[in-house]
Amino acid sequence: MRCRTCRNEAFYRRLHEGVALCKTCFLKDIEEKIRRTIAKFNMLRFDDHIAVAVSGGKDSLTLLRVLRKLEKRFPRATLTAVTIDEGIRGYRAEAVKLAKKSCKELGVDHVVVSFRELFGKTLDQIVSSKKELSPCSYCGVLRRRAIQMAAREAKANKIATAHNLDDEVQTILLNIFHGDAKRIARVEPVLVDPAGRFLQRVKPLCEIPEKEVALYAYVSGIEFQTCPCPYLETALRNDIREMLNRIEERHPGTKFTIFRSMERLRDSLKASMARTELRNCLRCGEPTTGSVCEVCKMLDRAVVA
Ligand code: SF4
Ligand code: ZN
Repeated sequence: MRCRTCRNEAFYRRLHEGVALCKTCFLKDIEEKIRRTIAKFNMLRFDDHIAVAVSGGKDSLTLLRVLRKLEKRFPRATLTAVTIDEGIRGYRAEAVKLAKKSCKELGVDHVVVSFRELFGKTLDQIVSSKKELSPCSYCGVLRRRAIQMAAREAKANKIATAHNLDDEVQTILLNIFHGDAKRIARVEPVLVDPAGRFLQRVKPLCEIPEKEVALYAYVSGIEFQTCPCPYLETALRNDIREMLNRIEERHPGTKFTIFRSMERLRDSLKASMARTELRNCLRCGEPTTGSVCEVCKMLDRAVVA
């Protein structure tokens, strides 16, 4: 098996495109794909200050490394890595350590903020006091808020997250399973609030399959956390991930097909939905569609003994 580009021996066959690549050409190909996604969706400007959400896993550390390479071509751009410590015993500490190490190696400023500092409770405490929602529901809502707060504090004007193709397709299906059409339309490579109350969020890895992000991290020697979050098993997302991987194995390209279908559907879905006005939460002042935002509602319900 020969590399499509340089004819050296290949180490990986990309089934959905029917091509083989050697290690060097694979790394270049992934970096080029990410650069093209950024350009296609107009994700970044030459003078952005980007807060990169870095958990310490393969996706976020890959994103940080690739953005750092791209940033070097844009002297007026700035990167700050932001790590959220949700307070998950036996899991998060190692990830924070690995995130710190990578940031130091790459020479990127690093900010770590915790749920405890921001919301007065760790995720473990919230989950043990209330079980109305899954741990991932609490974690997702609070982490999004925490990243916004930390990014604003760092004076960034944009947030980059490491959602890969699999994450995006899983989220689309998850919303279908939950019957939530509004949220399906919000699974987008770029999320903007026209009124500027939320910092813009971009997802440069959204067209890279998870398997290839992992391979990139592995081949380029990135040290990332491999042990899964102890709450992962409880998530419906996990079942969807397994189902999608089984289908992809038998029918290569399925994940891309779902992603592209969604791209075509998104605009008509959005147009058919009435625009939801945002107002300020009565408790914390952050933007929300109701009178009290999801974060305040969650924290109210999660009374820690
Ligand atoms: Fe949070 Fe769920 Fe991810 Fe664990 S698996 S870090 S609880 S979203
Ligand atoms: Zn090659």
